[in-house]
Amino acid sequence: MEKLVYRFQEGSKDMSILLGGKGANLAEMTNLGLPVPSGFTITTEACRQFYQTGKKLSDDLLKELEKEIAALEVQMGKNFGDVKNPLLVSVRSGSVFSMPGMMDTILNLGLNNKTVVALAEATQNERFAYDSYRRFIQMFSDVVMHVPREKFEKKLEQIKAKNNYKIDADIPASDLKKLVQQYKEIYQTETQSDFPEEPKQQLLLAVEAVFSSWDNARAKVYRQLNDIPDHLGTAVNIQSMVFGNMGDTSGTGVAFTRNPSTGEAKLFGEFLMNAQGEDVVAGIRTPESIDKLRNIMPHVYDEFVKITSLLENHYLDMQDIEFTVETGKLFILQTRNGKRTAQASIKIAVDLVEEKLITKKQAMRRVSAKQIEQILHPTFDVQGLKQANLITSGLPASPGAASGKVYFHADDVVAAKKRGETCILARLETSPEDIEGMVSSAGILTSRGGMTSHAAVVARGMGLCCIAGCSTLTIDEKKKEISYGDIVIKEGDYISLDGGTGKVYLGEIPYDHNSMGDSFKEFMSWTDEFSKLEVRANADTPKDVQTAIHFGVTGIGLCRTEHMFFNENRIFAVRQMILAESIDERQKALDQLLLMQKEDFIQLFTITAGKPVNIRLLDPPLHEFLPKTEDEINKLAEDLSISTFYLKQRLHELSEVNPMLGHRGCRLGITYPEIYNMQAKAIIESAIVIQKSGIEVAPEIMIPFIGSQKEYNYVKDNIAKTIEDILQQENIQIGYQIGTMIEIPRACLTADEIAKEAEFFSFGTNDLTQMTYGFSRDDSEKFSWDYIEKGIMKNDPFQTLDFDGVGELISIACKKGRVVKPALKIGVCGEVGGDPASIRFFHELGLSYVSCSPYRVPVAKLVAAQVAIDEPFKK
Ligand code: PEP
Ligand code: MG
Repeated sequence: MEKLVYRFQEGSKDMSILLGGKGANLAEMTNLGLPVPSGFTITTEACRQFYQTGKKLSDDLLKELEKEIAALEVQMGKNFGDVKNPLLVSVRSGSVFSMPGMMDTILNLGLNNKTVVALAEATQNERFAYDSYRRFIQMFSDVVMHVPREKFEKKLEQIKAKNNYKIDADIPASDLKKLVQQYKEIYQTETQSDFPEEPKQQLLLAVEAVFSSWDNARAKVYRQLNDIPDHLGTAVNIQSMVFGNMGDTSGTGVAFTRNPSTGEAKLFGEFLMNAQGEDVVAGIRTPESIDKLRNIMPHVYDEFVKITSLLENHYLDMQDIEFTVETGKLFILQTRNGKRTAQASIKIAVDLVEEKLITKKQAMRRVSAKQIEQILHPTFDVQGLKQANLITSGLPASPGAASGKVYFHADDVVAAKKRGETCILARLETSPEDIEGMVSSAGILTSRGGMTSHAAVVARGMGLCCIAGCSTLTIDEKKKEISYGDIVIKEGDYISLDGGTGKVYLGEIPYDHNSMGDSFKEFMSWTDEFSKLEVRANADTPKDVQTAIHFGVTGIGLCRTEHMFFNENRIFAVRQMILAESIDERQKALDQLLLMQKEDFIQLFTITAGKPVNIRLLDPPLHEFLPKTEDEINKLAEDLSISTFYLKQRLHELSEVNPMLGHRGCRLGITYPEIYNMQAKAIIESAIVIQKSGIEVAPEIMIPFIGSQKEYNYVKDNIAKTIEDILQQENIQIGYQIGTMIEIPRACLTADEIAKEAEFFSFGTNDLTQMTYGFSRDDSEKFSWDYIEKGIMKNDPFQTLDFDGVGELISIACKKGRVVKPALKIGVCGEVGGDPASIRFFHELGLSYVSCSPYRVPVAKLVAAQVAIDEPFKK
């Protein structure tokens, strides 16, 4: 029979699949000799059995539980339900992957009308005993019977208001007793049954409820968002209670061994005196900084600091630690790898390497592609910020900048997002029910709660900007408005949040897209030590090329020359070239364009300084450059001194029914060789200028839209002749290459033939996907979502490679190409070149590089390193 319950002494940190993260770490800490309250863990296997048997606790589990409760009673010298010395426990969920706040917890279980008296006597603290009891009733009712918490909160608020008690701790025992009575009445009315007095019955109901909470709506959403499989199930930890609400020498808190927002290597945390854990996490009272504990209880503080560094050194990662002090004695209730912002993730990984705790290879796995994406998220533009209208500030709970329309309810945010709005969610405090609204917002603002409140923890995990505990603002969720003195901000008004400083601004502020710290640069530089796949960028303006170089590309993978033609100053020459009646006329226009293109290439080659630059010859159908509106047509006719009627006729001749399959790419180079000759000339003459100036230059000339070797040869021979003539004239050598895009299925199937002539391949997955799937790359998003929702496709194939279809064609082309030329340089320059899952595929195929837009380069570089590191573990 499989063991379903493990005492803490029997587990270890490597057993998280079975014991959940929390259970495994409680076991590990127990075995490290740390002050962990005794207890045991019900396994995730027991949870899976619970679901398999129609949500029933199995007889085997019941037997084991009976045995372990008895053992715990002996160990603690306390018994369940004992009227003199009662055992009280906490019941907490603990899944394999951390899901903060998503599932349920019950504290103080074991209290009833008799044990509460015993607890009061044993602690000589009646107030404490009844406070614990009323909390237990509320939590039990909420978690097990789903009685709304507000019903209890209302009674609590009533008693406080009636007696002028400012905070919960002001409520005396006599009133807490009354509250207990009122709470039980609520339970009775809501559930039509008496509150269960028998501790073992309480325990079994609680275990069932925690198992059931695995399947609650918010946990499901969280799992979906974080790719956590549904079948894992949760463990349940039963642990003897220690109390942080036993008076002035008791307290409870949460601390991170490093700052989870910035990564700074300094203990960061909060605590509340005379309180239980939920008070800190729920953000109901605003806690004190952990540094203050040093003044209040120096011994406890010193011991705690020692334990935090022991745990970090043991787990080799930043830890998030929950602790309780019971009448001056410290207990550790939980440790786990702490959630952190993207910035913190990178800084911590770099610092841990520098502190020699982990290797660079390990550091590569500590940062996710998502986090790199987040770090590239915008901050506010400095100038914009200077002019912004600051209202007030709260706690900088999660960095980043967000400017958007404010909404007060999760549903409203979801609806506004669907309308295409950027939203800020403002709440008194968030709770797990708000999760969908949080996901859909650009930033979160709360007026209550601290740095470890629900809003703060969840926002940091999601990389969302968050300002918590902004208590100077009055957030009225019912009226849907925020007020601050005379200022009233209504639903739909713009506000801006700076999660790094905690500042709240009125109105919209523009973003700055370029802010990253030193750790980021250091971390990114390490990726090259591991990756086999090089990362290039698709870039055609000096600014984009500079950004790409800044992010550490090995070259430019695609320079779309047509982008250089759309410029306002150039379009007229382009139009003259297209509409020319004779070769002579066309040549005149081309001569003008030649000078412009040379200017472009000289700039690019100067910035790239010897890195390969892949320049693609003109690709789109020519009519894309021509005017569309009546006004534009009239103007062009006038400028060209031709009649509008004649121009319209020419436009009609050039228009196509299926332009994406029409007269474009190399087909233009076949009809109008002089266009490609001009481009080749511009490239090589610029390269000569650069080389003569002492800068290295490595142009790759790429012919687009090739479907056959003959097509390729025709174009290649033409431009090669142009180039060689120039080089001969100048008596100079330039290390240039001519190759092709592979973006037509036929090119994949005849890649061996093409490879005989081409010096490199670059897969244009945008067109290749369009032609393989037969989906228009410009319109398919209108229906692709239906395909995804109905399970027909897993992803949009224009975002993540269609491995089975397009991937197979790429694989065939690589094999055929490399049979002819084993060292053939092969890259990818379509959109999927920056997609993590696709990058893994390209790495496994042994491609030379991927090329993507400059802002996707850091993600691509990290993934390229990670997949190379992962390689030995496959098989
Ligand atoms: C492609 O087709 O994948 C490609 C990179 O070229 P373009 O997007 O310019 O057609
Ligand atoms: Mg293309």
